[in-house]
Amino acid sequence: MSAKPEIPEQITSWTSGLESGNGFSKNVLISPDESFDVLDPGTARKLVTLPVSNSKDVARAVNNSRQVFESGVWRNENPDNRERVLLRLADLVERDFSFLSTVEALDTGKPLAEAEFDIQEVATVLRYYGGWCNKVTGQSIATPTGLAANTLRGPVGVCAAITPWNYPLPILMYKLAPALAFGNSFVAKPSELAPLSTIYFAQLCEEAGVPSGVVTVLLGAGKTGADLVANPVLDKVAFTGSTKTGRAIMSVAANNITKVSLELGGKSPQVVFESADLEKAVEGVARGIWTNSGQVCVAGSRLLIQRSLKERFLGALLDFTQNYNLGHSLNPHSQMGPIISASQKEKIQATLDAAKSDGAEIFNAGTLTTDEGFFLKPTIVDGLDFEHSIHQEEIFGPVISVTTFDSESDAIELANSTRYGLAAGVWTGKAGQGQRVARAI
Ligand code: NAD
Repeated sequence: MSAKPEIPEQITSWTSGLESGNGFSKNVLISPDESFDVLDPGTARKLVTLPVSNSKDVARAVNNSRQVFESGVWRNENPDNRERVLLRLADLVERDFSFLSTVEALDTGKPLAEAEFDIQEVATVLRYYGGWCNKVTGQSIATPTGLAANTLRGPVGVCAAITPWNYPLPILMYKLAPALAFGNSFVAKPSELAPLSTIYFAQLCEEAGVPSGVVTVLLGAGKTGADLVANPVLDKVAFTGSTKTGRAIMSVAANNITKVSLELGGKSPQVVFESADLEKAVEGVARGIWTNSGQVCVAGSRLLIQRSLKERFLGALLDFTQNYNLGHSLNPHSQMGPIISASQKEKIQATLDAAKSDGAEIFNAGTLTTDEGFFLKPTIVDGLDFEHSIHQEEIFGPVISVTTFDSESDAIELANSTRYGLAAGVWTGKAGQGQRVARAI
């Protein structure tokens, strides 16, 4: 049953280099005293053992970034040259597209085609922000005669990014590309669960001509992230990850009056009315929750369905999902990968067990093509009322909970009945209803 994936030789020789300590760009600051293993979640086998950035490395990274910022080597660079460097980075990402996509697929477990989409996005984002370097303008403001007032846009200073494992390189790029375009210094701390593409990207920064110390990468888990956020020399922290960690980061940043931006969890509704085109709605709802095994901040994890359509819709959703192949990222037939880690899989399983003991009906679908790794089948949970935690808390896995409604106003009320508000979908055959409901959620 288990189709053993062949990891390309180019990747194993790169990870062996990292293990021997020679393969790192000088932009990665680490110490050999502590290490952690990075696993392939599709096999549960180790991909590589990496060193951790300790407290001293973090302090060194931030202080060095401050010096480089103050030196003006990047922020005072001709904007046309900053643009050239960002465009060169995009070209290098495309040159190494296959390598980077494969690394990202192995590290996150997602099917290679999804990882390829992500890496193309990285090049697109770099080009988009590259174009901004020399197009930044301020405003002149009407003032009494004899006075002049205008706004000037410039860099913030030393920016830190703490990123999650579900879209490692695109999420880094949404932070890094605009920061570099405006002349900031940048310190990145990728997730310990999927840091490989960020490590490789640090190498590309060197090759593209980003001056030394403008981009620095730190490795490790929450401790490294917490050391970074607590450093008062930072001007800004950009975080994407769980709401729990976001809350901790916000309070530390508040202490130092550090600017902070947070992109956190979600519990997004998908509302299906009886007038919807059944086939399109089923496919849309399925892709909205099964993509990346439901490990997406905007995953449509709450299905709100009009009562009259419920049985037909759930039957069709199960039929559609039945054809999903769950397998290793490098198996070309895989449509869905594993959960990122054993502990995350156990957490989801415990949530499902609790729902079952509270009276839920649970349906699974899909076909497993491997007997290794942290796989969990796509799961539909029905029969619990909308206050239950299954409808209220982010699960971050291939689990969709079902609630029925009768009227449009019920649907809106249910859709809004959670503290999360990241995204929503509305499926209806009536254009006016679609607009109304979308605006009300
Ligand atoms: P997480 O919060 O566990 O970890 C995110 C990052 O924070 C990791 O790099 C981790 O090492 C670091 N970290 C952990 N504790 C820290 C601390 N005390 N101080 C500083 N850094 C710390 O999140 P995750 O499990 O990696 O990612 C999944 C979560 O991310 C989900 O909740 C998902 O919804 C969210 N997410 C949100 C968006 C968005 O744009 N809103 C996008 C993707 C993912």
